[in-house]
Amino acid sequence: MEISGSCFCNTVQFRLSDAPKAVVNCHCNFCRKHSGAAFATYAVVPETVLEIISGQDSISAFQFKENAHKHFCKQCGSPIYNRNVRYPGLCMIYLGSISASLNMAPTVNIYCESQLAWVPAIAEIKSFEQGITRQTQ
Ligand SMILES: [Zn+2]
Ligand SMILES: [Zn+2]
Repeated sequence: MEISGSCFCNTVQFRLSDAPKAVVNCHCNFCRKHSGAAFATYAVVPETVLEIISGQDSISAFQFKENAHKHFCKQCGSPIYNRNVRYPGLCMIYLGSISASLNMAPTVNIYCESQLAWVPAIAEIKSFEQGITRQTQ
């Protein structure tokens, strides 16, 4: 089984030689701030499973806390994966960078102590197949 992925501009391309060990929603304040989203979803893989096949030179790392780095494409800014010394040997790949992300449903929520209170209700709010236009407003 092989899974592919890339950043938004396709400069950074990678593949995974195995399925993720877990898919996790992280609701911590660090992930919220450095991802810009309400929470971040990661596919967790051993580092040996992640192979960068192009654009290695375009990956920058930013240390967002004493034990963790975010790796991102410096051309388009897309986050690719995080490393954390507390979880040696693992890469937390941002789910949105993986082509097969549709098939990778998260099975756990972590750091729910800082989850935004409205997150559990998102399935119940008014939803549209596409963006809101003047007709649908
Ligand atoms: Zn890019
Ligand atoms: Zn987090």
